[in-house]
Amino acid sequence: MKNLLTTGRHLVFSVRLASSSSLGQTASPAAAPAQDTFYHRDLKITAATPGQMRPKPPVDTLKFGHNFSDHMMEVDWNVNSGWTRPAISPLHNLSLHPGAKVLHYAVELFEGMKAYRGVDNKIRLFRPEMNMERMRRTAARSALPDFDTEECIKIISDLVKLDQEWVPYSTTSSLYIRPTFIGTEATLGVGHPNDAKFFVLTGPAGAYYQTGFNPISLLADSDFVRAFPGGVGSYKMGCNYSPTILVGRMAAEKGCQQVLWLYGEEEQLTEVGTMNIFVYWINEQGEEELVTPPLDKGLILPGVTRQSLLDLARSWNQFKVTERYITMPEVIKSLKERRMREMFGAGTACVVSPVGRILHKNKATGDYSELLIPTMESKPNLMQKFYETIMDIQYGRVEQPGWTRIVS
Ligand SMILES: *Cc1c(COP(=O)(O)O)cnc(C)c1O
Repeated sequence: MKNLLTTGRHLVFSVRLASSSSLGQTASPAAAPAQDTFYHRDLKITAATPGQMRPKPPVDTLKFGHNFSDHMMEVDWNVNSGWTRPAISPLHNLSLHPGAKVLHYAVELFEGMKAYRGVDNKIRLFRPEMNMERMRRTAARSALPDFDTEECIKIISDLVKLDQEWVPYSTTSSLYIRPTFIGTEATLGVGHPNDAKFFVLTGPAGAYYQTGFNPISLLADSDFVRAFPGGVGSYKMGCNYSPTILVGRMAAEKGCQQVLWLYGEEEQLTEVGTMNIFVYWINEQGEEELVTPPLDKGLILPGVTRQSLLDLARSWNQFKVTERYITMPEVIKSLKERRMREMFGAGTACVVSPVGRILHKNKATGDYSELLIPTMESKPNLMQKFYETIMDIQYGRVEQPGWTRIVS
């Protein structure tokens, strides 16, 4: 990070200070700017006592997000004093003033990443700099302060190392990592928070597929939108997710596991649940093509998995790879013409998730029609090849240079 004396603005300031001070000090502590990141070297670790450590549930009983490891990380920020020393300590409740901005205006953002115990018993993170850079962009959009990507990854690595026994001894399970950032200033004005808290929780996550892939059904109803141009759909802010819960429940009532989020008059496919969407088909020009919607309008969350699948597909160079919108009429036409091969979601939780069926609400008549997607019948199966390739990298069976970092 920038040194106090290497930034022009502060240099001028300190020169003035020096000439006006008989002591010739270059900068007094009061004149120092708020620290613009927290540092790994300042990390304070308070380990749990044996009595505070909780039993680890068997991996085959784990429900996502229900179990937490023994420790958490926390660091606070104030507009005047900057970042405090980061601290790792036993998992505990937070104490917040009821006027804290997070509780009123949802000044909150998060990340989702995992640590994997490989076949060599080494624990790896998968492209963590992509998560941290996405988090920093989201913090900037949320009027929350910045921090350094590498300092943060080093601290998260230490947290995982301390709770390494919580990383399942399994090549289908993992340790889920949830970095979170909230505005804590206790004032009710809609304004940028002068106080904020960054914290990281971790917890074991079981195998997503216990008994092989199970294709999911999607409710596609353009009465509901997840994101819109100029909005914040491309950021992992908590405020994007609470409005989707009721729609998810409506989907469940109709026998669907997820929502296919559509946008606009043309019914563009944007995302599926909290995953990015991919279509693999023969396009209208007769070419084999992998398509996923582009990031340009801010409707799509820039997934680490999405980018990794695009990177892999482009490196294989076996079919066309395109970032563009796909519409419901195009999907229906491709099914009629038997050009659709696979449709799947992509995200950290599952890597890929096959789509088997879409329940589509006709926006003119209000009637529902059922579209059957032949993802599971497609052979050879591209989705499965992506799954195996990514898992091989995450669990250390195959090395993809620059994509993993060993924690311990
Ligand atoms: C997190 C998320 C994704 C997937 O991102 P990954 O980095 O691959 O886990 C996709 N869509 C939404 C809406 C998300 O919140």
